[in-house]
Amino acid sequence: MTENTKSHTPTGYPDSYVPAILTQWAAAREIHARAIEEGVAWECANEDCEHDDECPTEEFAVCKECYGISVEASEEYFTPAFTWPCPTARALGAEAN
Ligand SMILES: [Zn+2]
Ligand SMILES: [Zn+2]
Repeated sequence: MTENTKSHTPTGYPDSYVPAILTQWAAAREIHARAIEEGVAWECANEDCEHDDECPTEEFAVCKECYGISVEASEEYFTPAFTWPCPTARALGAEAN
């Protein structure tokens, strides 16, 4: 018996990888963390509202990383795509409240 007798995680990684995997998981969760930002709602951004020219800002729970990337692309609006938990955070086990 060789490899097959060694203990493995359910994903097939050897158990000895677990500390490194946990470190990487925690780092990824830290990057894709929840943050509160103020901005204009998606409906307002699409002018799908009754606010005339005075759209109020609201607070949104966003992914720090994904929202940061979106701000670099376009400073103006929040979109549902950047609310937290983002797809990456969800893949890492994050749940909305
Ligand atoms: Zn994210
Ligand atoms: Zn509006």
